[in-house]
Amino acid sequence: MTTTRFAPSPTGRLHVGNIRTALHNWMLARQAGGTFILRIDDTDAERSREEYASAIRADLQWLGLTWDREERQSARLDRYEAAFAALLAAGRIYPCYEDTQELEVKRKIALGRGLPPIYDRAALSLSSEDRARFEAAGTRPHWRFLLDHAEPIMWHDGIRGPQKFDAAQLSDPVIRRADGSWLYMMPSAVDDIDMGVTQVLRGEDHVSNTAVQIQIFTALNAAGYGAAEGTAKGLPAFAHEALLVGREGKLSKRLGSLGCDAFRERGIEPEAIIALLARLGTSQPVEPIVDRAALVAGFDLSTFGRAPAKFDEEDLERLNAGIVHQLPYEAIAARLPVGMDAAGWHAVRPNLAHVGEAADWWQLVTGPITAPAFTDEDKAFLAQAEQTLVWGDNPWAALTAALKEATGRKGKALFLPLRQALTGMDHGPDMGELLPLIGEAEVRGRLARAAA
Ligand code: GLU
Repeated sequence: MTTTRFAPSPTGRLHVGNIRTALHNWMLARQAGGTFILRIDDTDAERSREEYASAIRADLQWLGLTWDREERQSARLDRYEAAFAALLAAGRIYPCYEDTQELEVKRKIALGRGLPPIYDRAALSLSSEDRARFEAAGTRPHWRFLLDHAEPIMWHDGIRGPQKFDAAQLSDPVIRRADGSWLYMMPSAVDDIDMGVTQVLRGEDHVSNTAVQIQIFTALNAAGYGAAEGTAKGLPAFAHEALLVGREGKLSKRLGSLGCDAFRERGIEPEAIIALLARLGTSQPVEPIVDRAALVAGFDLSTFGRAPAKFDEEDLERLNAGIVHQLPYEAIAARLPVGMDAAGWHAVRPNLAHVGEAADWWQLVTGPITAPAFTDEDKAFLAQAEQTLVWGDNPWAALTAALKEATGRKGKALFLPLRQALTGMDHGPDMGELLPLIGEAEVRGRLARAAA
């Protein structure tokens, strides 16, 4: 049974990068008929805000990325205590008393010697008297997870292929602060175990976290944690996607702030965002696909490339137009101008880049319109058009065929004065579809006024 999760920290709004991660996890779960969990990573009480958690839910709902289960880390502190106790008993956690300044000095010294700034494990050699002295002075420890340097950390990444890390090249991660609060590293692994997560798919900025978390998973399993029913046995499968970059190919500040509000304001449909982000960075073509089931069915981690994926807002605009041209009336009826029915939507849809423009085109139907001034010759032609008009099944086809026959006009000379007289525009929706919407009396009136 596939279980995936999207684990945003409610410290800000979702941006395109997060949305992409959410989408891909949702697709993995839906494709397998599995479970998609929304996990609110709110262990950072200071920076987490309830309004961001609400906004994240609202954005996911707008995008149609429904979740089957919601969890939040702040409600699971007892689990983290239990895992902490298990790791402590297994000798995989140790207390440290260095303050930030001290650590910074150590870092600088290492860098100055041309060494990687890896924590030197000085706290491991503290005696119980040393610790007692710190405690007596009121210094509370923070806690590090003791990495096992014996074996390389290896996994087969669903996107990056075989991965190998030397644990000695990593710092033992701080997992708990001196005030007792939790850092990201251990709670995330505990949650993945408890929630039976089978697939962890996230950005490649998490690759080295995965190396550490694999050791945490393994240590927890070895310590007997997570043996309960419904929890994950063994490691989840990991995959890390290349990051999104801006059009210029650079990590872009703009992308970090571009989210659902901006898209909505610009009239971008959720389906356009989904269609783009579902395939961006893969070898599958990005196309205006409205059929989500088809996108889900074709989703395949093996099609992902290792190079950063370029997010181009112009691509999104193009895709949006392609999506709008296919949207069924029922999907957007509530957002259309009053009185616009399915036939009206069908007529104007091919001319729209955004649904909001429907109102402008609908105004051609409801009127009033302003036609340009015509030459005497065109006026005569338009008067003839009014007399020729027979309101049958397809009045436009009948009218233009009869006028072509009677006047010898064709192409632009035949169609343009009619379009201008009837809509006030040089281009626009299909006239065959527009005429029945405008109605016979109004069509006759517009032709007569233009001919006058
Ligand atoms: N809260 C973490 C983040 O936003 C979750 C990472 C993960 O998927 O484990 O990056």
